[in-house]
Amino acid sequence: MSTTEVALVTGGSRGIGRGIAVALAGLGWRVALTYNRDATAAAEAKGLVEAASGEGLVIQADVAQAADRARLIDAVLAHWGRLDMLVNNAGMAPRKRGDLLEMTEESYDEVMATNLKGPFFLTQGVAKMMIEQVQKGVIQRPKIVNISSVSAYASGTNRGEYCISKAGMSMMTALYADRLAEYGILVYEIRPGVIETDMTAAVKAKYDRLIFQEKMTPIVRWGKTEDVSRAMLAIAQDLFPFSTGQVFDVDGGFHVRRL
Ligand code: NDP
Repeated sequence: MSTTEVALVTGGSRGIGRGIAVALAGLGWRVALTYNRDATAAAEAKGLVEAASGEGLVIQADVAQAADRARLIDAVLAHWGRLDMLVNNAGMAPRKRGDLLEMTEESYDEVMATNLKGPFFLTQGVAKMMIEQVQKGVIQRPKIVNISSVSAYASGTNRGEYCISKAGMSMMTALYADRLAEYGILVYEIRPGVIETDMTAAVKAKYDRLIFQEKMTPIVRWGKTEDVSRAMLAIAQDLFPFSTGQVFDVDGGFHVRRL
């Protein structure tokens, strides 16, 4: 069996996930990337992974569906026989932003299933498999990384379901960090601020105003997918061996309180 490490990046087809997948490939990792609907974007991302000297594997899987999550884990194992890092990146904004008092149960359920329940149970499945692989000596330094958001603590009353899902993901980071440390599985959270991707394209004018006119963040610019992937590279290269449950803010200083 090859000793090259394997990562699974959910939502690795576009945006932040694609950046992470390509960055890991640059380290020589083999990268399984998933998508839900956009097969063309996924194929493109796989091409970039391969150009960055990694091996790529594309898997369609709706992270909100239990059967898809099980199939995903099986597919990675069948292909490469190991999994060293899970990156829970796939996520969605509510289809329609709207006032908290008008939020529908459908939107709540969809966002929570995609952004929280899906990653929680995918992590549960992966964690069990990683424990077995650690015990058999197949993997040495397994890691799980959750891509949450500043919305984990910053209220946005026009996307409450998103905020709740990301706040839940932060507790999920703490829970798994606590539970899995005894097996040497380290769990981290990267908490991005406003990053330029398709997800934020719909609200670009609003964020342009907040960033450049209202100086919302000490670092006055949009975040780039590369800002997130650089944090991921540090984690992948084991630069934090005595840290788990750690949250990395990649947000231009958004979290700094000012007077
Ligand atoms: P994009 O909308 O650009 O990409 C989303 C990715 O997730 C796509 O690959 C998409 O696949 C996949 N995806 C969406 N729903 C599902 C699903 N049900 N099952 C499997 N895959 C799915 O988003 P970003 O790159 O901007 O965001 C990535 C993560 O970062 C998200 O969790 C987001 O909440 C978080 N984040 C983003 C910020 C930003 O400013 N952009 C800020 C803070 C956090 P497909 O195209 O096939 O549907």
